[in-house]
Parts: sequence; C-alpha cells; structure tokens
Amino acid sequence: MRLAIANQKGGVGKTTTAVNLAAALGAMGQRVLLIDLDPQGNASTGLGIGRHSRKLSIYDVLLGRATIEDATLRTVANNVALVPSTVDLSGAEIDLIEFEDRPFRLRSALRDALAFDHIVIDCPPSLGLLTVNALAAADGLLVPLQAEFFALEGLSQLVKTLERVRASANPHLQLTGIVLTMFDRRNRLCEMVANDVRDHFGDTVFRTVIPRNVRLSEAPSHGLPALLYDPRAAGSEAYVELARELSARLPVRVAA
Ligand code: ATP
Ligand code: MG
Repeated sequence: MRLAIANQKGGVGKTTTAVNLAAALGAMGQRVLLIDLDPQGNASTGLGIGRHSRKLSIYDVLLGRATIEDATLRTVANNVALVPSTVDLSGAEIDLIEFEDRPFRLRSALRDALAFDHIVIDCPPSLGLLTVNALAAADGLLVPLQAEFFALEGLSQLVKTLERVRASANPHLQLTGIVLTMFDRRNRLCEMVANDVRDHFGDTVFRTVIPRNVRLSEAPSHGLPALLYDPRAAGSEAYVELARELSARLPVRVAA
C-alpha cells in the first residue's frame, strides 16, 4: 500500500516512524520504497544516504526531470529502497506553481513504481503542497502523535486536511492509523492524552505504542535504522510490532 506519514507538527516522530516502519516491513520480506518528501532530508540521512550521494532527488521527480526509477537508491536496510530529498525541495512549493497538475505530481510519478509492495512517504512538518502531493498519491495516512497537551487540536486540523484532499483530489484516501510516539508510561499527562485520543479515534489508534527510547534517536547519526543499529532495543521491537499490526490491518490482496 501507499502510506503517507504526516503530521504538521514538527518533531513528533514522522521520520523515525517512516524509516523504522520501512525497515521493519523490509525485514518481513516486503519490498518497500521510502520517499523522502521533506527538504530537511532526515529520512535520507537516517538510511545512510549522505548528501554527496543524492545525485537525483524527489525534487527532480516532481519537476519532471527524472523518473522515480532514475532517482531510486538502494539502502543499508534489506528490501528498502529510497528516493532521497535535497534542500532544493524547499523551493518546490513555488517551482510547482507553473504546473496545472501540481497536487498530482507525485501520484503521476508513482504510476510506474510497481516493483514495490509498499511505498512509504515521509512528509515535512506542514500541510502545504508537498504534504498534499503525498496525500493525493497515498491510499492511507498514518499519523505519528506525541501524547502531549495540544495533540488533539493539531489532529483535528490534520483530519480536516484529509477530508479536503478526499473531496478534491483523492476519494480513496483512508486514515490508516494513529500511532502514539515517544511514549512515557510514567508520565501521567502522557497516559491522559493517550486515553483521550483513544476515546476520540477508537480502533484507528494502533495498539502498539512507540516508547521514548534513546536508541531510536541515536541510530540516525550512524546512518542506520534502529532495527539494524540495535535490534533488541525497545524502540526497534516496537516498530517491528507496529509493522505486524499494520500488515494485519491491510486488506488481503487477492492474487490475480
Ligand atoms: P520533523 O517534523 O522535523 O520532520 P519528525 O516528526 O520527523 O520531525 P523525528 O525526526 O522522527 O520527528 O523525531 C524528532 C526527534 O525525536 C529526533 O531527534 C528523533 O531522533 C527523536 N525521536 C523520535 N522518536 C523517538 C522516540 N520514540 N524516542 C526517543 N527519541 C525519539
Ligand atoms: Mg521528519
């Protein structure tokens, strides 16, 4: 499936989720393409693709100068390929104005990416044109949510965007799930917010919770998903569990 990982709030664990979920699905034998759609390029760095190896990027693809296949790189993680991003992408919202089909540039580019079981799109922390491109190209939206005081307010804004994209660009888009990240069981506020989110969104919230875990934050500086950096870490195990739970939720594909 095509999964956009989005939340307009910064630093909530989007990239950590994109990289480690991709690595966990890859380890399960699924072929994954991770698209780094954030000018910060953190998913590219986190998968060991340094700036000098980013010859072609998702920016070139969106502007029609390269195909997805041209820009796809192999990564350290089994079965995980990556389309990297560069800082050029920060100009994309303006550069795309000249294209009439600007919300659909990614969707069109992905039309031929058939060699993958899953496409995971790491979005920037905004609800601008890049995130809209991701939502227009995706079957599902996965929202990483940090359990803190204003979490629910931010979520309602995101759900409005989802509904707007559904009405205008992509009627098939589903809210695949909400995953609680950087969770601290000893923190009462964390527990209270988590309960609120579950009351509002029910089974849409994954049972799997990603704990706050220092290994998850160390791994990117080694250019590795946590799953390769320290597979026994609580954070790595949580993402394996999330990949299992996600797979169980997906509609069963009937062989042609
Ligand atoms: P941005 O909005 O800037 O793209 P993001 O939503 O992609 O941020 P991440 O980059 O994944 O968020 O995470 C923000 C910071 O928190 C990073 O330094 C990351 O290593 C750290 N982090 C993410 N998840 C966890 C976790 N479960 N435990 C500890 N640290 C974490
Ligand atoms: Mg990020």
